[in-house]
This record gives sequence, structure tokens and C-alpha cells, in this order.
Amino acid sequence: MRIDVVSIFPSYFDGLTLSLLGKARDAGILDLHVHDLREWTHDRHRTVDDTPYGGGAGMVMKPEPWGEALDALAPAEGMADPRPTIIFPSPAGELFTQRTARELATREHLVFGCGRYEGIDERVFDYAATRGEVRLISLGDYVLNGGEVAVMAMIEAIGRLIPGVVGNPESLVEESHEDGLLEYPSYTKPSVWRDRPVPEVLLSGNHGAIAAWRREQQLERTRARRPDLLAGE
Ligand code: SAM
Repeated sequence: MRIDVVSIFPSYFDGLTLSLLGKARDAGILDLHVHDLREWTHDRHRTVDDTPYGGGAGMVMKPEPWGEALDALAPAEGMADPRPTIIFPSPAGELFTQRTARELATREHLVFGCGRYEGIDERVFDYAATRGEVRLISLGDYVLNGGEVAVMAMIEAIGRLIPGVVGNPESLVEESHEDGLLEYPSYTKPSVWRDRPVPEVLLSGNHGAIAAWRREQQLERTRARRPDLLAGE
């Protein structure tokens, strides 16, 4: 998979050289490129923002640098095959879930555009739709200062679903949200730690009993912490 990220703070993404995604990049499974939006400015101050039409607080990201970035990274229809999926993180977008991550992990080319200030001139989204499939995606119902942290989270959630990124694919199947439930509790050695024993069933060697206990724990946890996930049951 190829991923292009456009940001005015490219060094946010230095962390993606670490751990599993770093290894995936070294192995050529993930082809990640981070670009500074200011590369596509032409004035002395490399300006990317301006005051909002109609007044109001804050600044808005200018459309011109974004237009040039899209021209470079998502060439006109017909030239790129398949067309990229262009994602703008936004608190006003659809909610990012494990289902979204699974869907996006099947794409060949993702382009992420990180907003800052009060966001990006609205016409950019319309223009981007001539270059690929546009998705406005929210990390959650709160407001961040910029799209970088949201894009980091999305790349990590999507990246670990690309075949070959996580060594043991079994570990992906049992995780929270994969089957609409939260994951069961996990324990490791020692069997008693600071007067706290590991649940006995896990030491029994009885795989059927362990599976049943884990399922019950999943349901109990989900009921207690995230009843909304069970609402569709
Ligand atoms: N004025 C915008 C609004 O009320 O919808 C918020 C702008 S926010 C300060 C600046 C940028 O941070 C956004 O353009 C977006 O890229 C990013 N951002 C903020 N909250 C986010 C969230 N919950 N999910 C994804 N991106 C977010």
C-alpha cells in the first residue's frame, strides 16, 4: 500500500519509523511518504492560511497549496489507476471505527490531508473529489488542534491490518471490536502477583472452559463499558 501524508508539521510522523509500521516500511509492505504542505507555496513566507470570508475567529487554510499538493499526489482522473482514496481528518466527518480501518486497509493508495487552524477552504474537498474518492473522517467527538494525531492513529489502525505487518495474524482476530465486542482480560506470569491470582480457569488447560470464560468476560465488559456496542444485538 502507498500512503501520502500532507501536513505543515511533517516531523509529527517521525514516530512511524518505529515498531511494526517501521518494520513494514523497511520490508516494503508500506510505502509511506510525508510531505510538507509549504512545498507547494510560492511566497517568501510560505503562507498556508488566510482570514475567513464572512469574518469570525481564526484562520483558514488557503486552497492554492492544497490544489497543487493534490495535483502532485493524486493526478487527474485516468492517470492514476486505481484512483486514490483522499482522507481529510475532521471533527465534522464520519466516525473512524475498526470497520473503517478494515475497509481502508484494502486500498492501494491513501492520501491524507492534515488540517490546521479553523480547517481547510471547503472548495478543496470538492476539487479533491475530481482526483479520487474523498472521505472526511473524525477520530471522535472532540476537537484536536490539527489532523496529525488523527492521521497517525488512522495509519496505525489501518497499517496493522495490511497482511504481513503483524507477525501472527491470529492476534488480529481476537482483538476488541473485531467481533463487535471488547476483548477479554489478559494475564501473564507470575500466577500470583501482589496477592492477586490469575483466574483459575486460565491455569486449567481446559480449552473449552477457557473459551467459554473469555466469551463471558467479553460480554460482561462490553455490557459494563460500552453498552452501545450491544445495542444492535
Ligand atoms: N473549526 C473546525 C470545526 O469546528 O470543525 C475544527 C478545526 S481543528 C482546530 C483543526 C484541524 O484538526 C481540522 O481541520 C482537522 O484536520 C483536525 N481535527 C480536529 N479534531 C479532529 C477530530 N476529532 N478528528 C479528526 N481530525 C480532527
